[in-house]
Amino acid sequence: MDDQAVRSTLEFRACYSYDAAVEGYLPDLVIFPVAESQVILLARYAHRRGIPLVPRGAGSGCSGGGVCAQGGILVSFERMDRILSLDPGLMVGLAEPGVITAHFQREAERQDLFYPPDPSSAEICTLGGNVAHGAGGLRGRKYGTTRDYILGLEAVTAEGQPVRTGFFSPGETRDLTGLLVGSEGTLAMITKIALRLMPRPESFCTLLLVFRQADQAVQMAHAILRVGLIPAAMEFMDQRAVDCVRAHGKAILPPGNGHILLVEFSGRHQEVLHGAEKVEGLRRGSGALLVQKARVSRDRQKVWSVRRALSPAMAHAAKRKVSQDVCVPPGALSHLLRDIEAVGQKHGLQVITFGHLGDGNLHVNVMADGSRKQMRQARAAAEDLFRAVLALGGTLSGEHGIGLVKARYISWELSAETMAAQRKVKAAFDPAGVLNPGKILSTSKSSVLSEMEGKTP
Ligand SMILES: Cc1cc2nc3c(=O)[nH]c(=O)nc-3n(C[C@H](O)[C@H](O)[C@H](O)COP(=O)(O)OP(=O)(O)OC[C@H]3O[C@@H](n4cnc5c(N)ncnc54)[C@H](O)[C@@H]3O)c2cc1C
Repeated sequence: MDDQAVRSTLEFRACYSYDAAVEGYLPDLVIFPVAESQVILLARYAHRRGIPLVPRGAGSGCSGGGVCAQGGILVSFERMDRILSLDPGLMVGLAEPGVITAHFQREAERQDLFYPPDPSSAEICTLGGNVAHGAGGLRGRKYGTTRDYILGLEAVTAEGQPVRTGFFSPGETRDLTGLLVGSEGTLAMITKIALRLMPRPESFCTLLLVFRQADQAVQMAHAILRVGLIPAAMEFMDQRAVDCVRAHGKAILPPGNGHILLVEFSGRHQEVLHGAEKVEGLRRGSGALLVQKARVSRDRQKVWSVRRALSPAMAHAAKRKVSQDVCVPPGALSHLLRDIEAVGQKHGLQVITFGHLGDGNLHVNVMADGSRKQMRQARAAAEDLFRAVLALGGTLSGEHGIGLVKARYISWELSAETMAAQRKVKAAFDPAGVLNPGKILSTSKSSVLSEMEGKTP
């Protein structure tokens, strides 16, 4: 390893002690491998000594997955950042885990290819982190999520065994790939990824609609799907989210007060035009104002800038926020919105909601001033939200993972038998329990509630 590969100074360790959800987890050492062989040696060394190892991409995760909850070595994959190949014939890309997602998307586009998974954090997160979290994003309804684009993986187990799953050359099968996708760095460290690509869509059209009531936006999304349209994106921002962006002053907002639904079509030219026309037709009588319609890239970027401005705007709006990516069957969205409103009122806190309506995936952000009292209320509000989501047949996490932050609550969703089966899988990959300990199924008492009281973006 070169002299950039191992860092032990407090400054370096501090830089890797947080992610987008939690802070204050100092690793004992940070290591930056550049090749799988180094990851293998490192895993064997750590396994023999029982030292925790935590794989990490860009640290943009929202569940505390990429921090050392129990000390040990943080393995940052940021130097394994090469796109190894993009094959327009096979429509397959090969990449190392540290490649930034948006960089991969742009390189694919240069070859007229398309990598659809599109987390809103694409400019900062890595493909490895996306695979480990099974990342979703804006285009899930039409194109699926990261899971649907992973053909094969190379990975290193906690004991230092290299494993190869799925497609790297024609004829190989997908076997263990599905198990590793979404395993949040608890089963193996991913060192190489084979990704399925698509031809680049011919055309795009983005529509921005404003509604007086949140439920009108949900009804519009249902109507769009009922007439057989499959938009690439149906992104919702409630009025508080819109007001928050307006107060921050960094995006040009459409005229009219209300809740926003962004609908985007992609595909063949005629298909896209047809989708946009149908939505304009459905709009009449739906209570919506059609505020913007954008076809060319520059105009579409302007329309999307409202959504992109939201995360930084929320970071300015309150000292702390407790943020949850809950998900319910799309038919239960109206009910969930009512429950969210009730939770906010019960606890006297502002709640900002936005998300991917096509998937039933809502990001619910309880804003707080950082005082102990409000953080306690925010935590109680999150717990009420979880109860409501589970009662609606939903799940605690649509895309951000369980990590450290929701480990305490996983038993609310999974039966004891299911958890026992999952623990057996974990033990098969990591018998000594050194890989990313304290996460997902952990029974450790490390205070998860204090994580929720940590910094959230
Ligand atoms: C503003 C903002 C918007 C976001 N929008 C979305 C969104 O739309 N959709 C969405 O799904 N997520 C979103 N996220 C969450 C986050 O960006 C994703 O979860 C992303 O996949 C994390 O990637 P990362 O490289 O930052 O991973 P990290 O945060 O570094 O790690 C995440 C998890 O992956 C594991 N991991 C990382 N690399 C490896 C590896 N090589 N091998 C094994 N395990 C590994 C870590 O141990 C950890 O458990 C958003 C976050 C922010 C801050």
